[in-house]
Amino acid sequence: MHKTTTALVTGANKGIGFHTARLLIDAGHTVWLGCRDKSRGEHASAELGGRFVQLDVTDDASVDAAAQTVTSLDVLVNNAGIMDYPWTPAGEVTPELIRRLYETNVVGLVRVMRAFLPLLAKSGNPVIVNVGSSLGSLGCVTTAGRPESQVPAMAYGSSKAALNMITVHYAKAFPEMRINSVDPGYTATDMNGNSGFQTPADAAVIVAQMARIGPDGPTGTYCDAHGRLPW
Ligand code: NAP
Repeated sequence: MHKTTTALVTGANKGIGFHTARLLIDAGHTVWLGCRDKSRGEHASAELGGRFVQLDVTDDASVDAAAQTVTSLDVLVNNAGIMDYPWTPAGEVTPELIRRLYETNVVGLVRVMRAFLPLLAKSGNPVIVNVGSSLGSLGCVTTAGRPESQVPAMAYGSSKAALNMITVHYAKAFPEMRINSVDPGYTATDMNGNSGFQTPADAAVIVAQMARIGPDGPTGTYCDAHGRLPW
């Protein structure tokens, strides 16, 4: 990733997205902070020296307007996401809960991809990072002894499993782009009542690293800070 490249991070007003934007700005890149709330987004953008663009991943008009505002783009970090916390046990998961989580974590991802792929296609080194979770890994969740196997995260985990499959298909469809899923690791953020083991600044390191890969970097992969993860 050259210093002149432009990146967009969705859900960048706080948490892992905020720190990913900070790391990319610190590395000299032009960074758009895509945030659904104007006041929170403008505040975060001013704090980091980034550019604010209003972007609610669940809203067609908002995403389309953001794609008109951002006129060139090399790197897209699909970070915006929600979870049900405390976890909803499988027997209590409702269609409404699934619909709400998928609307942001799955439908929102596709909405943002559709809007920004044409801009990314004009870049010399288009890179997309989809922020997933090891709770969306069938391999991790079904391996006894792995912490993910103990977490009753059916709604959230299945939304992140869908994100992984979406990553694979986009990567196959757009081989000229680098498109990967990244698990930032269990992190203390508002999403989980700040129960995670690491800070969002720590978590953002692998996200920013995968956002900065070059044309020879991997595509269609799934990793965390320690290496490849099983799908
Ligand atoms: P967070 O602090 O709650 O941040 C989530 C961000 O997403 C916020 O900026 C939020 O904006 C934004 N967002 C939510 N819905 C949105 C929408 N419809 N449109 C645009 N932005 C929206 O949580 P986080 O832990 O940093 O999560 C970031 C990503 O990491 C998520 O995809 C999450 O699934 C993933 N992740 C987190 C962990 C963890 O342990 N924390 C582990 C693995 C993966 P508002 O401030 O407006 O709500």
